[in-house]
Amino acid sequence: MSNLEQTLSIIKPDAVERNLENEIKNIFLENKFKIIKDKKIHITKAEAEEFYKVHQTKPFYNDLCSYLSSGPIVVMILEKEDAILGNRKIMGATDPKKADEGTIRKKFGISIDKNSVHGSDSIENAKIEINFFFKD
Ligand code: UDP
Ligand code: MG
Repeated sequence: MSNLEQTLSIIKPDAVERNLENEIKNIFLENKFKIIKDKKIHITKAEAEEFYKVHQTKPFYNDLCSYLSSGPIVVMILEKEDAILGNRKIMGATDPKKADEGTIRKKFGISIDKNSVHGSDSIENAKIEINFFFKD
């Protein structure tokens, strides 16, 4: 049965800074994702805190929010069959050292915090995150 989904992807500051935007977008396109919408933005720390509020009790929360607001990011709506899980697979594990060969984080990630990309982890969060960046 067909299960067309949309997910939110972010190219994080470490990757934008290294001019990896097109290379990462090409990986999505090669993997048959459609980039429905995309924009390059620079969010405030308050916006990052809202976006990552599920992590507000974690010890890395403050650094994470400072980092995501430290420079330009590219936010995208990706669409494909089973896009949410499919994106998580090609992103690789949170810690680039533990990510599988061929994944975006293995290829480009610098460290567990500077891991180049974000991807929604569930249908519910994908809706919330898409709405957060693309309200209309
Ligand atoms: N993060 C971090 N230290 C950690 C765990 C996570 O800096 O010990 C950062 C990392 O940038 C990660 C983000 O917090 O991408 C969100 O964490 P999550 O567990 O949701 O990982 P993800 O879904 O991004 O793989
Ligand atoms: Mg997550």
